[in-house]
Amino acid sequence: MGESRAVAEAPTRRIEGFAVAGGVWATAVPFPSPLAYSYSYAVRAAEGIVVVDLGWDSDEAWSAFRSGLARAGHSLDEVIGAVITHAHPDHYGLARRIREHTTAWIAAHPAERAQIRVGAAERRARVVEIADWLGASGVSATRLAGLESELAELEAALPGVEADIELLDGAAVPGTGGALVALHTPGHTTGHLCFHDRERGLVFTGDHVLPKVTPNVALRPGSAADPLLDFLDSLRHLRDLPDNLLALPGHEWSFDRLSDRLGVLEVHHQSRLREIEQAVREGRETVWDVSRAVRWARPFDSFTPRSLRSALAETYAHLARLSEDGRLVRRAGRPERWTVARGRRD
Ligand SMILES: [Zn+2]
Repeated sequence: MGESRAVAEAPTRRIEGFAVAGGVWATAVPFPSPLAYSYSYAVRAAEGIVVVDLGWDSDEAWSAFRSGLARAGHSLDEVIGAVITHAHPDHYGLARRIREHTTAWIAAHPAERAQIRVGAAERRARVVEIADWLGASGVSATRLAGLESELAELEAALPGVEADIELLDGAAVPGTGGALVALHTPGHTTGHLCFHDRERGLVFTGDHVLPKVTPNVALRPGSAADPLLDFLDSLRHLRDLPDNLLALPGHEWSFDRLSDRLGVLEVHHQSRLREIEQAVREGRETVWDVSRAVRWARPFDSFTPRSLRSALAETYAHLARLSEDGRLVRRAGRPERWTVARGRRD
């Protein structure tokens, strides 16, 4: 009785929309994850409202998106376009509803566009391919079943809505008079984009740079061969920006001193590379065994299927970087095995 009362009286989570700079509003759009929400930003541009990222696809998320826009004093009719940092469901989920309810264009990097443009059969094939890859990581059959079912759910959460406009590195976002510029920052995903607002001194960092969480850099089927190398290069790409920008990320909170954060992320991955190389030196050979030896922010055994999949893909990305660097050798098979390269056994 006590418990059902508590459920009945639980307040619905308040979703805040707030101004972050003249003509820029942030809306926290809820999604089912420990991160709790992703940001959708409404930017007043030369020709109307441009939205940066859309959030998760649910009725609750859609109503948060719309009330955020209303708090900013704007309506759906004023939205001329949406730019997407990357095609994960917490950043792209509402694309189908935007398509249904507005005439706005949707813009993304070509590499993300390719991820979005998949039919049901292709989506199923992709799940099979990733499940097979997870099998090669050395994960046990029981854990594998949980990973597979979560994966199918996640794939289903991505709307098959194609982007209308492709943005490459340095491209001006349409309708902004050149004020908003795309920066290609691969690593978290192959076609990840950040956006620099040159007039307001802002940078929208998506999931490339977050203020506290270390963005997931994952090697999995469909990703680049060495995504960690891309990610580290992309950190350096943002160093070219002026240092007094306010960074507006996809999760958590806004932050300044971007270059400090870029430095922290670089150091984090260098130290994780050393940690992972050491684990292989100690005789751990599979992605699974190495993952178990890594010091994660939370205990490895407490991971949900989604976190576990991210952890394996993250370990994989570091192993691949080390083997590209000639420090480790990768042997194909089920499971795949990693050993220290000849001449590196010191
Ligand atoms: Zn995200």
